[in-house]
Amino acid sequence: MDLIEELKKISQEISQCQKCELHYSRKNAVPGEGPANAEILLVGEGPGFHENEQGRPFVGAAGKFLEELLAKIGVKREQVFITNVVKCRPPGNRDPKPEEIEVCTRSYLENQIQAINPKVIVTLGRFSMGLYLPHARISDVHGQAVRIKGKLIVPMYHPAAALHQGSLRPVLESDFSHLPELIRQAGSAPDLGQPQSGENQAPPTQLSLF
Ligand code: URA
Repeated sequence: MDLIEELKKISQEISQCQKCELHYSRKNAVPGEGPANAEILLVGEGPGFHENEQGRPFVGAAGKFLEELLAKIGVKREQVFITNVVKCRPPGNRDPKPEEIEVCTRSYLENQIQAINPKVIVTLGRFSMGLYLPHARISDVHGQAVRIKGKLIVPMYHPAAALHQGSLRPVLESDFSHLPELIRQAGSAPDLGQPQSGENQAPPTQLSLF
C-alpha cells in the first residue's frame, strides 16, 4: 500500500473509532491532515469546538495563530501534517485522560508518524510533549530539539497558550524561527533512546543554531 493509501486507511479507522469514551460525544473525529511526505509533523492536544464541528485540526483561533507562525518561517499550512494526541474532542474541552491518550496514540498517532516519517515532530503543549518527555517542564525545554528513538522532537508551547498569555507569543515565534535550521541539521542531534521515563532523564539538547 502506498503512503497516501496508508494514511487514508488510518483516517478511516479513526473516523469509525470506538476505542474510548470520547466517541460518544464527538460530532466528527479529527484524524489530522497534510501531505504524506511532510517534513514537519505538528501534534496538538485534541480537537476543540470548531475542530469537532468540521472534522479538521486547528481551524479555530489557535489554528489561525499557528498558520501565522508557519508563515513567518515561509511554510504554508498545506506543507505540514497537523494532528493531535487524541482525535476526538474531550467534552467541555477537558484534559484528555491518560487511558484515552494511551489507546489513541498507540492505535493511530504512532502509525501516522511511521507512515509519514517526518524530519521533525513539533509537540504543541504539554500533552504531546508528555509522549516523549513525560517528566519535563515545558518552560524548561521549549524550543530545544531532542532525538528520541530516531525522531527529532521539538517541544513548543501550545498556540492557544500564547493567545491567553501574550508574553508567550514572542517565545513561540522565536522557537518556530529556529525550525528551518533544525530541519537542516536533522542528522546531528544526540539520540536519547527511549522516551524519558526514569529519574535519570537527560536534559534535552539544544542544537547549535546559526
Ligand atoms: N487545539 C488542539 O490542540 N488541537 C486542535 O486541533 C485545535 C486546538
